[in-house]
Amino acid sequence: MSVTRHVAALVVGGGISGLVCAFALRKAGIDAQLVETSPRPGGVINSVIRDGFLLELGPQSFSATAQLHQLCEDLGISDQIVQAPPRAPRYVLIGDELQPVPLTPPAFFMSSLINGSTKWALLRDILGKSTPPDGDESVASFVRRKFSAQLLDRLVGPLVSGIYAGDPERLSIRSAFPQLYEAEKVAGSILRGMLRLAKTRKGPRGRPTLQTFREGNQTLASAISRKLGAALFAQTSVTEIVKRSDGSFEVRLDVNGRQESLTAQSLVMTTPTDVTGKLLVQLDSQFESLLGSV
Ligand SMILES: Cc1cc2nc3c(=O)[nH]c(=O)nc-3n(C[C@H](O)[C@H](O)[C@H](O)COP(=O)(O)OP(=O)(O)OC[C@H]3O[C@@H](n4cnc5c(N)ncnc54)[C@H](O)[C@@H]3O)c2cc1C
Repeated sequence: MSVTRHVAALVVGGGISGLVCAFALRKAGIDAQLVETSPRPGGVINSVIRDGFLLELGPQSFSATAQLHQLCEDLGISDQIVQAPPRAPRYVLIGDELQPVPLTPPAFFMSSLINGSTKWALLRDILGKSTPPDGDESVASFVRRKFSAQLLDRLVGPLVSGIYAGDPERLSIRSAFPQLYEAEKVAGSILRGMLRLAKTRKGPRGRPTLQTFREGNQTLASAISRKLGAALFAQTSVTEIVKRSDGSFEVRLDVNGRQESLTAQSLVMTTPTDVTGKLLVQLDSQFESLLGSV
């Protein structure tokens, strides 16, 4: 199969961002095509069944949102969603022992997982006032500044690696947890700010629930791939992008070892930032260093 010579919109990268983007563009009537290096769309989403067990090698759950609910309806996979019981216990491994994670304020104050000075820091947040620094800070320095190194080590670190598989020392608080930054900014306190923001939030109330699919998160990626059909080109890598004088883009492709090219009126990049930086270098040489440092 050969990629169409000219496309209205080319989406580069078939992880969940690219898949959803291409699907949404096509739903809106735009002739979008998607190119993905690997034979299996989904990017870091990778559900594997081994010895009768479902293993998530990438993300294992996601928050329920109205948009995601609508997407699952459109794809006909709503009946495959599994909800995590909101009161199900969670554990962190401390040394050789699994310890329950406190999920309510009273449980937090009773928990032996955190020491007295961390509990005192929480009280200080409720009763006191603090101001976020002018510049951005990492998740780790935010937690150490507001609470304690122990809270970072025992609760926030495991939580952050569960969500982002990332290092809290290198994740930006404003990007990873904007609601925490906002809360401190508006109220001088995380807890008071979160309560205030919850009151002003529009739309249906209720605890966001964690969800997955009966056969793993690959279900979502596979369902979108099926809907995209011939608009999805797997085993196709973008190797070079050049801007043309009419504002469109010339895109060079490696299609399973064969060199091809096409023109695209619009381009959506959803590849990892370092890859995107290299691919956009001919548009502006700064892309490589700026995106490479993210
Ligand atoms: C281990 C792990 C656990 C996680 N756990 C959770 C979780 O529990 N809940 C949650 O909400 N989030 C979680 N996340 C985060 C979430 O999974 C990611 O943010 C999200 O899946 C990223 O999707 P993406 O499409 O932006 O990027 P990716 O999935 O990285 O997709 C990028 C795609 O671009 C393709 N590509 C690269 N170069 C080219 C090229 N030159 N041409 C064409 N295609 C190219 C790649 O093959 C890839 O498919 C986790 C992440 C990881 C790694």
